[in-house]
Amino acid sequence: LVPRGAGSGMTGGNVGRGVIVDFSQGFRQLTVDPAQRVARAGASVTWGQINEAARGFGLRLPPDPSSGAFATSGGMASTNAAGPRSLRYGSVRRWIEAVEIVGTDGESRWVKRGAGSGERFALGQDERRLIAARFPRTRKNSSGYALDAFAQSGDELDLLIGSEGTLAVITGVSWRLDPILPDVAGVALGFGALEALGDAVPYLLALNPSAVELLDRTILSFVEEAGVTLPAGLACLLLVEFERETAPAARGVVGDAVRGLKHLTTHVETAVDRAGLERLWTVRKLASPALARLSEARRSLQVIEDGCVPIERLGEYVAGVRAAADGAGIPVVLFGHAGDGHVHVNTLPDVNRPGWKEEVRGLYDAVTALQLRLGGTASGEHGDGRLRAGLLERVYGAEVVEQFRRIKQAYDPLEILNPGVILPAAGWEGAPLADLKVGADAAGIPDDHTEDITGRYLTPDGNLSRAPRHAHRPARVSRAAAPAGALARRLHARRAAR
Ligand SMILES: Cc1cc2nc3c(=O)[nH]c(=O)nc-3n(C[C@H](O)[C@H](O)[C@H](O)COP(=O)(O)OP(=O)(O)OC[C@H]3O[C@@H](n4cnc5c(N)ncnc54)[C@H](O)[C@@H]3O)c2cc1C
Repeated sequence: LVPRGAGSGMTGGNVGRGVIVDFSQGFRQLTVDPAQRVARAGASVTWGQINEAARGFGLRLPPDPSSGAFATSGGMASTNAAGPRSLRYGSVRRWIEAVEIVGTDGESRWVKRGAGSGERFALGQDERRLIAARFPRTRKNSSGYALDAFAQSGDELDLLIGSEGTLAVITGVSWRLDPILPDVAGVALGFGALEALGDAVPYLLALNPSAVELLDRTILSFVEEAGVTLPAGLACLLLVEFERETAPAARGVVGDAVRGLKHLTTHVETAVDRAGLERLWTVRKLASPALARLSEARRSLQVIEDGCVPIERLGEYVAGVRAAADGAGIPVVLFGHAGDGHVHVNTLPDVNRPGWKEEVRGLYDAVTALQLRLGGTASGEHGDGRLRAGLLERVYGAEVVEQFRRIKQAYDPLEILNPGVILPAAGWEGAPLADLKVGADAAGIPDDHTEDITGRYLTPDGNLSRAPRHAHRPARVSRAAAPAGALARRLHARRAAR
Protein backbone atom coordinates (compact mmCIF):
# COMPACT_ATOMS: atom_id res chain seq x y z
CA LEU A 1 0.00 0.00 0.00
CA VAL A 2 1.36 3.38 -1.00
CA PRO A 3 -0.30 6.14 1.05
CA ARG A 4 -0.62 9.35 -0.93
CA GLY A 5 -1.87 12.81 -0.02
CA ALA A 6 -1.69 15.64 -2.55
CA GLY A 7 1.16 13.93 -4.38
CA SER A 8 3.38 17.00 -3.99
CA GLY A 9 6.25 15.14 -2.32
CA MET A 10 9.43 15.21 -4.39
CA THR A 11 11.17 12.01 -3.38
CA GLY A 12 9.00 9.27 -4.87
CA GLY A 13 7.36 8.26 -1.57
CA ASN A 14 3.89 8.77 -3.04
CA VAL A 15 4.31 6.44 -6.04
CA GLY A 16 5.38 2.82 -6.14
CA ARG A 17 4.59 -0.76 -7.01
CA GLY A 18 1.40 -1.67 -5.19
CA VAL A 19 -1.92 0.03 -4.57
CA ILE A 20 -2.11 3.78 -4.12
CA VAL A 21 -4.22 4.69 -1.07
CA ASP A 22 -5.52 8.14 -1.89
CA PHE A 23 -5.85 10.42 1.14
CA SER A 24 -6.37 13.59 -0.87
CA GLN A 25 -10.11 13.18 -0.36
CA GLY A 26 -12.43 11.49 2.08
CA PHE A 27 -10.84 12.68 5.35
CA ARG A 28 -11.93 16.30 5.29
CA GLN A 29 -13.31 16.93 8.78
CA LEU A 30 -11.87 20.05 10.44
CA THR A 31 -12.70 21.63 13.79
CA VAL A 32 -10.89 24.49 15.50
CA ASP A 33 -10.97 24.75 19.28
CA PRO A 34 -9.79 28.32 19.99
CA ALA A 35 -9.81 27.85 23.76
CA GLN A 36 -7.43 24.88 23.56
CA ARG A 37 -5.66 26.38 20.51
CA VAL A 38 -6.05 23.11 18.66
CA ALA A 39 -7.26 22.17 15.15
CA ARG A 40 -8.41 18.59 14.60
CA ALA A 41 -8.03 17.80 10.92
CA GLY A 42 -8.65 14.75 8.80
CA ALA A 43 -5.72 13.51 6.71
CA SER A 44 -7.02 15.27 3.55
CA VAL A 45 -7.20 18.76 5.09
CA THR A 46 -4.54 21.10 3.69
CA TRP A 47 -2.32 23.58 5.53
CA GLY A 48 -4.21 26.38 3.75
CA GLN A 49 -7.59 25.13 4.98
CA ILE A 50 -6.36 24.86 8.58
CA ASN A 51 -5.05 28.42 8.52
CA GLU A 52 -8.16 29.77 6.86
CA ALA A 53 -10.29 28.23 9.62
CA ALA A 54 -7.94 29.38 12.41
CA ARG A 55 -7.41 32.96 11.18
CA GLY A 56 -10.80 34.14 12.44
CA PHE A 57 -9.66 33.26 15.97
CA GLY A 58 -6.34 35.09 15.52
CA LEU A 59 -4.56 31.73 15.33
CA ARG A 60 -2.38 29.91 12.80
CA LEU A 61 -0.24 26.82 12.21
CA PRO A 62 3.21 28.48 12.16
CA PRO A 63 5.39 26.19 9.97
CA ASP A 64 4.50 27.32 6.45
CA PRO A 65 5.44 24.93 3.61
CA SER A 66 5.37 26.69 0.23
CA SER A 67 3.11 23.86 -0.92
CA GLY A 68 0.61 24.71 1.85
CA ALA A 69 -2.20 25.41 -0.62
CA PHE A 70 -2.33 21.71 -1.46
CA ALA A 71 -0.13 19.70 0.97
CA THR A 72 -2.38 17.55 3.18
CA SER A 73 -2.26 17.04 6.94
CA GLY A 74 -1.34 13.38 6.38
CA GLY A 75 1.44 14.30 3.95
CA MET A 76 2.86 17.07 6.14
CA ALA A 77 2.91 14.87 9.23
CA SER A 78 4.41 11.98 7.25
CA THR A 79 7.28 14.08 5.88
CA ASN A 80 7.78 16.34 8.92
CA ALA A 81 7.24 19.29 6.59
CA ALA A 82 8.62 22.76 7.26
CA GLY A 83 8.81 26.19 5.66
CA PRO A 84 10.51 29.60 5.83
CA ARG A 85 9.07 30.33 9.31
CA SER A 86 10.41 27.03 10.64
CA LEU A 87 13.47 29.09 11.44
CA ARG A 88 11.63 30.42 14.48
CA TYR A 89 8.85 27.87 14.90
CA GLY A 90 10.46 24.56 13.96
CA SER A 91 9.06 21.91 11.64
CA VAL A 92 5.53 20.50 11.99
CA ARG A 93 6.82 18.00 14.59
CA ARG A 94 6.61 20.70 17.27
CA TRP A 95 2.97 21.46 16.34
CA ILE A 96 1.51 17.96 16.26
CA GLU A 97 -0.36 17.05 19.44
CA ALA A 98 -1.51 13.67 18.20
CA VAL A 99 -2.04 11.57 15.08
CA GLU A 100 -4.83 9.14 14.39
CA ILE A 101 -3.36 6.08 12.70
CA VAL A 102 -4.40 2.75 11.29
CA GLY A 103 -1.61 0.22 11.76
CA THR A 104 -0.92 -2.86 9.67
CA ASP A 105 -2.88 -4.86 12.27
CA GLY A 106 -5.95 -2.93 11.12
CA GLU A 107 -6.36 -1.23 14.49
CA SER A 108 -7.19 2.46 14.58
CA ARG A 109 -5.89 4.56 17.49
CA TRP A 110 -4.73 8.03 18.48
CA VAL A 111 -1.05 8.43 19.38
CA LYS A 112 -0.59 11.45 21.62
CA ARG A 113 2.26 13.71 22.70
CA GLY A 114 3.37 12.71 26.19
CA ALA A 115 1.81 9.24 25.99
CA GLY A 116 5.18 7.46 26.02
CA SER A 117 6.90 5.01 23.72
CA GLY A 118 4.17 2.39 23.42
CA GLU A 119 4.91 -1.31 23.38
CA ARG A 120 6.50 -1.73 20.01
CA PHE A 121 9.93 -0.14 20.17
CA ALA A 122 12.37 0.93 22.89
CA LEU A 123 15.97 2.14 23.06
CA GLY A 124 18.72 0.93 25.38
CA GLN A 125 21.57 3.08 26.72
CA ASP A 126 24.04 1.93 24.03
CA GLU A 127 21.60 2.79 21.29
CA ARG A 128 21.00 6.22 22.79
CA ARG A 129 24.74 6.88 22.77
CA LEU A 130 24.92 5.74 19.15
CA ILE A 131 22.12 8.09 18.13
CA ALA A 132 23.71 11.03 19.95
CA ALA A 133 26.97 10.35 18.10
CA ARG A 134 25.59 9.69 14.62
CA PHE A 135 22.70 12.07 13.99
CA PRO A 136 23.69 15.21 12.06
CA ARG A 137 23.88 18.42 14.07
CA THR A 138 21.79 20.42 11.64
CA ARG A 139 18.86 22.66 12.52
CA LYS A 140 16.56 20.53 10.35
CA ASN A 141 16.54 16.87 9.36
CA SER A 142 13.80 14.81 7.68
CA SER A 143 15.99 11.83 6.81
CA GLY A 144 15.51 8.38 8.36
CA TYR A 145 13.25 7.75 11.36
CA ALA A 146 13.59 10.53 13.95
CA LEU A 147 15.38 8.48 16.58
CA ASP A 148 16.99 11.61 18.00
CA ALA A 149 13.58 13.16 18.72
CA PHE A 150 12.30 9.81 20.03
CA ALA A 151 15.33 9.43 22.33
CA GLN A 152 14.65 12.88 23.74
CA SER A 153 10.87 12.73 24.17
CA GLY A 154 10.32 9.01 24.66
CA ASP A 155 7.14 9.46 22.60
CA GLU A 156 6.00 6.98 19.96
CA LEU A 157 4.55 10.02 18.20
CA ASP A 158 8.08 11.03 17.20
CA LEU A 159 8.61 7.76 15.33
CA LEU A 160 5.40 8.25 13.36
CA ILE A 161 6.03 11.89 12.40
CA GLY A 162 8.24 11.82 9.32
CA SER A 163 7.77 8.07 8.74
CA GLU A 164 6.64 8.67 5.11
CA GLY A 165 3.81 6.15 5.12
CA THR A 166 6.08 3.24 6.07
CA LEU A 167 4.82 2.47 9.61
CA ALA A 168 1.09 3.28 9.60
CA VAL A 169 -1.39 5.33 7.65
CA ILE A 170 -2.46 8.62 9.20
CA THR A 171 -6.17 9.37 9.10
CA GLY A 172 -6.22 12.48 11.30
CA VAL A 173 -3.92 15.04 12.93
CA SER A 174 -4.47 17.17 16.00
CA TRP A 175 -2.55 20.40 15.32
CA ARG A 176 -1.44 22.86 17.98
CA LEU A 177 -2.08 26.47 16.93
CA ASP A 178 -0.33 29.71 17.86
CA PRO A 179 -1.53 33.33 18.02
CA ILE A 180 -0.72 35.41 14.94
CA LEU A 181 1.78 38.05 16.04
CA PRO A 182 0.34 41.49 15.29
CA ASP A 183 3.30 43.22 13.66
CA VAL A 184 5.76 42.29 11.03
CA ALA A 185 8.54 44.05 9.13
CA GLY A 186 11.41 42.93 6.97
CA VAL A 187 14.31 43.69 4.72
CA ALA A 188 15.97 42.47 1.52
CA LEU A 189 19.75 42.46 1.88
CA GLY A 190 21.99 42.09 -1.17
CA PHE A 191 25.58 40.85 -0.97
CA GLY A 192 28.38 41.02 -3.52
CA ALA A 193 30.03 37.81 -2.31
CA LEU A 194 28.73 34.50 -0.98
CA GLU A 195 31.35 34.52 1.76
CA ALA A 196 29.40 37.34 3.44
CA LEU A 197 26.78 34.77 4.47
CA GLY A 198 29.23 33.35 7.01
CA ASP A 199 28.95 36.55 9.10
CA ALA A 200 25.56 37.88 8.00
CA VAL A 201 23.41 34.84 8.81
CA PRO A 202 24.61 34.36 12.43
CA TYR A 203 24.22 38.11 13.01
CA LEU A 204 20.62 37.98 11.77
CA LEU A 205 19.83 34.85 13.82
CA ALA A 206 20.82 36.70 16.98
CA LEU A 207 18.01 39.20 16.22
CA ASN A 208 15.39 36.40 16.35
CA PRO A 209 13.93 36.65 12.84
CA SER A 210 10.98 34.51 11.74
CA ALA A 211 12.52 33.83 8.32
CA VAL A 212 15.87 34.31 6.56
CA GLU A 213 15.52 33.17 2.96
CA LEU A 214 18.33 32.92 0.42
CA LEU A 215 18.11 33.68 -3.30
CA ASP A 216 21.40 32.90 -4.95
CA ARG A 217 22.54 34.55 -8.20
CA THR A 218 21.54 31.42 -10.16
CA ILE A 219 17.87 31.98 -9.31
CA LEU A 220 18.15 35.78 -9.46
CA SER A 221 18.98 35.43 -13.16
CA PHE A 222 15.52 33.86 -13.63
CA VAL A 223 13.97 36.73 -11.67
CA GLU A 224 15.64 39.13 -14.11
CA GLU A 225 14.26 37.10 -16.99
CA ALA A 226 10.82 37.84 -15.54
CA GLY A 227 11.48 41.54 -16.22
CA VAL A 228 12.76 42.74 -12.82
CA THR A 229 15.86 44.93 -12.81
CA LEU A 230 18.12 43.95 -9.93
CA PRO A 231 21.17 45.86 -8.70
CA ALA A 232 24.36 44.92 -10.57
CA GLY A 233 26.88 42.55 -9.01
CA LEU A 234 24.56 40.69 -6.63
CA ALA A 235 25.97 37.33 -5.56
CA CYS A 236 22.93 36.61 -3.41
CA LEU A 237 19.97 38.17 -1.67
CA LEU A 238 18.64 37.46 1.83
CA LEU A 239 14.95 38.11 2.50
CA VAL A 240 14.45 38.60 6.23
CA GLU A 241 11.20 38.73 8.20
CA PHE A 242 10.75 39.86 11.82
CA GLU A 243 7.52 39.28 13.74
CA ARG A 244 7.00 41.32 16.88
CA GLU A 245 4.30 42.33 19.38
CA THR A 246 4.34 46.00 18.28
CA ALA A 247 5.07 47.96 15.10
CA PRO A 248 7.93 50.00 16.66
CA ALA A 249 9.59 46.78 17.83
CA ALA A 250 9.31 45.25 14.33
CA ARG A 251 10.68 48.39 12.67
CA GLY A 252 13.38 48.77 15.28
CA VAL A 253 14.83 45.34 14.68
CA VAL A 254 14.91 45.96 10.90
CA GLY A 255 17.01 49.05 11.66
CA ASP A 256 19.33 46.93 13.81
CA ALA A 257 19.78 44.44 10.95
CA VAL A 258 20.51 47.14 8.38
CA ARG A 259 23.00 48.99 10.60
CA GLY A 260 24.72 45.85 11.83
CA LEU A 261 25.35 44.50 8.32
CA LYS A 262 26.16 47.80 6.61
CA HIS A 263 29.78 46.78 6.04
CA LEU A 264 28.70 43.64 4.13
CA THR A 265 25.65 44.64 2.08
CA THR A 266 25.61 46.11 -1.43
CA HIS A 267 21.84 46.57 -1.54
CA VAL A 268 19.15 47.22 1.10
CA GLU A 269 15.38 47.53 0.76
CA THR A 270 13.13 47.63 3.83
CA ALA A 271 9.43 46.92 4.39
CA VAL A 272 7.68 48.26 7.47
CA ASP A 273 4.37 46.41 7.31
CA ARG A 274 2.77 43.20 6.03
CA ALA A 275 1.82 44.65 2.62
CA GLY A 276 5.32 46.02 2.05
CA LEU A 277 6.83 42.73 3.09
CA GLU A 278 4.64 40.81 0.68
CA ARG A 279 5.80 43.13 -2.13
CA LEU A 280 9.40 42.51 -1.14
CA TRP A 281 8.89 38.75 -1.14
CA THR A 282 7.24 38.63 -4.58
CA VAL A 283 10.77 38.53 -5.98
CA ARG A 284 10.94 35.01 -4.55
CA LYS A 285 7.91 33.91 -6.55
CA LEU A 286 8.94 35.53 -9.85
CA ALA A 287 11.51 32.87 -10.70
CA SER A 288 8.92 30.08 -10.83
CA PRO A 289 7.16 31.18 -14.06
CA ALA A 290 10.54 31.61 -15.76
CA LEU A 291 11.55 28.13 -14.63
CA ALA A 292 8.23 26.77 -15.88
CA ARG A 293 8.93 28.28 -19.32
CA LEU A 294 12.13 26.29 -19.82
CA SER A 295 12.38 24.59 -23.20
CA GLU A 296 11.21 20.98 -23.49
CA ALA A 297 14.88 19.94 -23.61
CA ARG A 298 15.83 21.61 -20.33
CA ARG A 299 13.91 20.24 -17.37
CA SER A 300 13.91 21.32 -13.76
CA LEU A 301 14.60 18.20 -11.67
CA GLN A 302 14.70 17.86 -7.89
CA VAL A 303 17.33 15.25 -7.08
CA ILE A 304 19.77 17.12 -4.82
CA GLU A 305 17.07 19.52 -3.73
CA ASP A 306 16.99 19.34 0.04
CA GLY A 307 20.47 19.41 1.62
CA CYS A 308 20.87 20.98 5.05
CA VAL A 309 24.24 21.72 6.70
CA PRO A 310 25.35 23.24 10.01
CA ILE A 311 24.76 26.96 9.70
CA GLU A 312 28.46 27.87 9.80
CA ARG A 313 29.09 25.70 6.70
CA LEU A 314 26.36 27.32 4.57
CA GLY A 315 28.64 29.49 2.37
CA GLU A 316 30.93 26.52 1.79
CA TYR A 317 27.97 24.33 0.84
CA VAL A 318 26.51 26.82 -1.66
CA ALA A 319 29.92 27.36 -3.26
CA GLY A 320 30.52 23.58 -3.33
CA VAL A 321 27.18 22.83 -5.03
CA ARG A 322 27.85 25.51 -7.64
CA ALA A 323 31.33 24.13 -8.32
CA ALA A 324 30.04 20.54 -8.59
CA ALA A 325 27.28 21.65 -10.97
CA ASP A 326 29.77 23.61 -13.11
CA GLY A 327 32.01 20.54 -13.17
CA ALA A 328 29.11 18.36 -14.33
CA GLY A 329 28.06 20.95 -16.93
CA ILE A 330 24.55 21.14 -15.44
CA PRO A 331 22.96 24.52 -14.69
CA VAL A 332 21.35 24.74 -11.24
CA VAL A 333 19.24 27.24 -9.31
CA LEU A 334 19.76 27.65 -5.57
CA PHE A 335 17.42 29.15 -3.01
CA GLY A 336 16.11 28.24 0.40
CA HIS A 337 16.16 28.66 4.11
CA ALA A 338 19.53 30.27 4.84
CA GLY A 339 18.75 30.74 8.53
CA ASP A 340 18.48 26.96 8.88
CA GLY A 341 21.49 26.17 6.66
CA HIS A 342 19.02 24.53 4.31
CA VAL A 343 19.32 24.97 0.54
CA HIS A 344 16.99 23.89 -2.26
CA VAL A 345 18.66 23.11 -5.57
CA ASN A 346 16.88 22.54 -8.86
CA THR A 347 19.04 20.92 -11.51
CA LEU A 348 18.31 21.98 -15.10
CA PRO A 349 19.86 19.28 -17.30
CA ASP A 350 19.52 19.25 -21.08
CA VAL A 351 17.61 15.99 -21.36
CA ASN A 352 18.33 15.70 -25.09
CA ARG A 353 22.05 15.50 -24.48
CA PRO A 354 23.44 11.95 -24.60
CA GLY A 355 24.68 10.89 -21.17
CA TRP A 356 22.65 13.50 -19.25
CA LYS A 357 21.43 10.94 -16.71
CA GLU A 358 24.97 9.86 -15.88
CA GLU A 359 25.92 13.52 -15.44
CA VAL A 360 22.99 14.10 -13.06
CA ARG A 361 23.90 10.94 -11.17
CA GLY A 362 27.50 12.18 -10.89
CA LEU A 363 26.22 15.46 -9.46
CA TYR A 364 23.96 13.60 -7.01
CA ASP A 365 26.96 11.60 -5.75
CA ALA A 366 29.24 14.66 -5.55
CA VAL A 367 26.69 16.75 -3.64
CA THR A 368 25.90 13.87 -1.27
CA ALA A 369 29.62 13.55 -0.51
CA LEU A 370 29.77 17.31 0.11
CA GLN A 371 26.82 17.19 2.51
CA LEU A 372 28.45 14.40 4.49
CA ARG A 373 31.83 16.14 4.58
CA LEU A 374 30.17 19.26 6.00
CA GLY A 375 28.28 17.28 8.67
CA GLY A 376 24.93 17.78 6.94
CA THR A 377 21.91 15.77 5.91
CA ALA A 378 20.53 15.11 2.42
CA SER A 379 17.02 16.06 3.57
CA GLY A 380 16.04 19.07 5.63
CA GLU A 381 12.30 18.77 5.05
CA HIS A 382 11.23 16.64 2.05
CA GLY A 383 12.15 13.21 3.45
CA ASP A 384 14.01 10.30 1.83
CA GLY A 385 11.32 8.61 -0.25
CA ARG A 386 12.87 6.29 -2.82
CA LEU A 387 15.24 8.99 -4.03
CA ARG A 388 17.52 8.90 -0.99
CA ALA A 389 16.69 5.60 0.76
CA GLY A 390 20.03 4.05 -0.21
CA LEU A 391 22.02 6.94 1.29
CA LEU A 392 21.09 6.32 4.91
CA GLU A 393 23.90 3.91 5.61
CA ARG A 394 26.41 6.52 4.44
CA VAL A 395 24.76 9.25 6.52
CA TYR A 396 24.11 7.34 9.75
CA GLY A 397 26.25 4.19 9.55
CA ALA A 398 25.13 0.55 9.51
CA GLU A 399 24.30 0.37 13.24
CA VAL A 400 21.78 3.21 13.14
CA VAL A 401 20.24 1.79 9.96
CA GLU A 402 19.87 -1.49 11.86
CA GLN A 403 17.79 0.44 14.42
CA PHE A 404 15.68 1.83 11.55
CA ARG A 405 15.10 -1.78 10.42
CA ARG A 406 14.01 -2.74 13.94
CA ILE A 407 11.41 0.05 13.85
CA LYS A 408 10.06 -1.08 10.48
CA GLN A 409 9.94 -4.68 11.71
CA ALA A 410 8.07 -3.62 14.87
CA TYR A 411 5.35 -1.73 12.99
CA ASP A 412 5.16 -3.44 9.62
CA PRO A 413 6.76 -6.90 9.73
CA LEU A 414 5.17 -7.97 6.43
CA GLU A 415 6.34 -4.81 4.63
CA ILE A 416 2.88 -3.87 3.50
CA LEU A 417 3.38 -0.11 3.77
CA ASN A 418 5.53 1.73 1.25
CA PRO A 419 8.35 -0.84 0.92
CA GLY A 420 11.49 0.77 -0.53
CA VAL A 421 10.81 4.13 1.14
CA ILE A 422 13.28 5.23 3.87
CA LEU A 423 14.77 1.71 3.90
CA PRO A 424 16.01 0.90 0.39
CA ALA A 425 14.65 -1.88 -1.79
CA ALA A 426 17.15 -4.42 -3.11
CA GLY A 427 19.12 -3.00 -6.04
CA TRP A 428 18.47 0.61 -4.99
CA GLU A 429 21.58 1.93 -6.78
CA GLY A 430 19.64 2.87 -9.92
CA ALA A 431 16.63 4.19 -8.02
CA PRO A 432 17.43 7.91 -7.84
CA LEU A 433 17.01 8.33 -11.58
CA ALA A 434 14.72 5.40 -12.35
CA ASP A 435 11.25 6.01 -13.77
CA LEU A 436 11.83 9.68 -14.61
CA LYS A 437 9.17 11.16 -16.87
CA VAL A 438 11.64 13.25 -18.88
CA GLY A 439 14.09 12.69 -21.72
CA ALA A 440 14.00 10.50 -24.80
CA ASP A 441 13.51 7.25 -22.86
CA ALA A 442 10.85 8.64 -20.50
CA ALA A 443 7.86 6.49 -19.67
CA GLY A 444 4.81 7.96 -21.38
CA ILE A 445 2.20 9.73 -19.27
CA PRO A 446 -0.81 7.42 -19.38
CA ASP A 447 -4.17 8.57 -20.72
CA ASP A 448 -5.90 10.24 -17.77
CA HIS A 449 -9.44 9.68 -19.01
CA THR A 450 -9.75 5.94 -19.07
CA GLU A 451 -11.70 4.40 -16.23
CA ASP A 452 -9.55 1.29 -16.27
CA ILE A 453 -7.02 1.86 -13.49
CA THR A 454 -4.92 -1.01 -14.81
CA GLY A 455 -4.14 1.13 -17.84
CA ARG A 456 -3.75 4.31 -15.85
CA TYR A 457 -1.68 3.66 -12.79
CA LEU A 458 -1.22 -0.07 -12.54
CA THR A 459 0.53 -1.84 -15.39
CA PRO A 460 0.06 -5.61 -15.74
CA ASP A 461 3.32 -6.21 -13.86
CA GLY A 462 1.99 -4.14 -10.95
CA ASN A 463 4.11 -1.08 -11.75
CA LEU A 464 2.68 2.18 -10.42
CA SER A 465 5.65 4.28 -11.36
CA ARG A 466 3.90 5.75 -14.40
CA ALA A 467 1.79 8.14 -12.36
CA PRO A 468 2.16 11.66 -13.78
CA ARG A 469 4.68 13.95 -12.13
CA HIS A 470 3.11 16.00 -9.35
CA ALA A 471 -0.36 14.82 -10.25
CA HIS A 472 -2.18 16.45 -7.38
CA ARG A 473 -5.44 14.67 -8.07
CA PRO A 474 -4.76 11.06 -8.85
CA ALA A 475 -7.64 8.77 -9.69
CA ARG A 476 -9.13 7.29 -6.57
CA VAL A 477 -8.58 3.61 -6.13
CA SER A 478 -12.02 2.12 -6.19
CA ARG A 479 -13.43 -0.03 -3.42
CA ALA A 480 -13.43 -2.99 -5.76
CA ALA A 481 -9.74 -2.50 -6.47
CA ALA A 482 -8.81 -2.02 -2.83
CA PRO A 483 -6.78 -4.71 -1.10
CA ALA A 484 -8.49 -7.25 1.08
CA GLY A 485 -7.61 -7.46 4.76
CA ALA A 486 -8.26 -5.79 8.05
CA LEU A 487 -6.39 -2.56 7.30
CA ALA A 488 -8.24 -1.95 4.04
CA ARG A 489 -11.61 -2.79 5.60
CA ARG A 490 -10.93 -0.40 8.47
CA LEU A 491 -9.95 2.42 6.13
CA HIS A 492 -13.01 1.98 3.97
CA ALA A 493 -15.27 1.77 7.01
CA ARG A 494 -13.85 5.04 8.38
CA ARG A 495 -14.22 6.77 5.04
CA ALA A 496 -17.78 5.53 4.65
CA ALA A 497 -18.64 6.66 8.19
CA ARG A 498 -17.45 10.16 7.38
C1 LIG B 1 5.88 23.55 -5.34
C2 LIG B 1 6.24 22.73 -4.12
C3 LIG B 1 6.69 23.39 -2.98
C4 LIG B 1 7.03 22.66 -1.84
N1 LIG B 1 7.43 23.33 -0.72
C5 LIG B 1 7.69 22.65 0.41
C6 LIG B 1 8.06 23.34 1.61
O1 LIG B 1 8.15 24.57 1.66
N2 LIG B 1 8.31 22.60 2.72
C7 LIG B 1 8.21 21.23 2.71
O2 LIG B 1 8.43 20.61 3.76
N3 LIG B 1 7.87 20.56 1.59
C8 LIG B 1 7.60 21.21 0.45
N4 LIG B 1 7.24 20.53 -0.69
C9 LIG B 1 7.15 19.05 -0.65
C10 LIG B 1 5.74 18.54 -0.26
O3 LIG B 1 4.76 19.49 -0.58
C11 LIG B 1 5.66 18.19 1.23
O4 LIG B 1 6.50 17.09 1.49
C12 LIG B 1 4.24 17.84 1.70
O5 LIG B 1 4.25 17.70 3.10
C13 LIG B 1 3.70 16.57 1.08
O6 LIG B 1 2.29 16.54 1.29
P1 LIG B 1 1.35 15.71 0.31
O7 LIG B 1 -0.02 15.77 0.86
O8 LIG B 1 1.53 16.18 -1.08
O9 LIG B 1 1.95 14.24 0.48
P2 LIG B 1 2.39 13.22 -0.66
O10 LIG B 1 3.40 13.84 -1.56
O11 LIG B 1 1.22 12.63 -1.30
O12 LIG B 1 3.12 12.12 0.24
C14 LIG B 1 4.35 12.40 0.85
C15 LIG B 1 4.76 11.21 1.73
O13 LIG B 1 3.85 11.08 2.81
C16 LIG B 1 3.18 9.82 2.78
N5 LIG B 1 1.77 10.07 3.11
C17 LIG B 1 0.94 10.98 2.55
N6 LIG B 1 -0.27 10.95 3.16
C18 LIG B 1 -0.19 9.99 4.11
C19 LIG B 1 -1.11 9.47 5.07
N7 LIG B 1 -2.35 9.94 5.19
N8 LIG B 1 -0.69 8.48 5.90
C20 LIG B 1 0.57 8.00 5.82
N9 LIG B 1 1.48 8.45 4.92
C21 LIG B 1 1.11 9.44 4.08
C22 LIG B 1 3.38 9.29 1.37
O14 LIG B 1 3.40 7.87 1.36
C23 LIG B 1 4.73 9.88 0.99
O15 LIG B 1 5.76 9.06 1.48
C24 LIG B 1 6.93 21.24 -1.85
C25 LIG B 1 6.47 20.59 -3.00
C26 LIG B 1 6.12 21.32 -4.13
C27 LIG B 1 5.64 20.58 -5.34
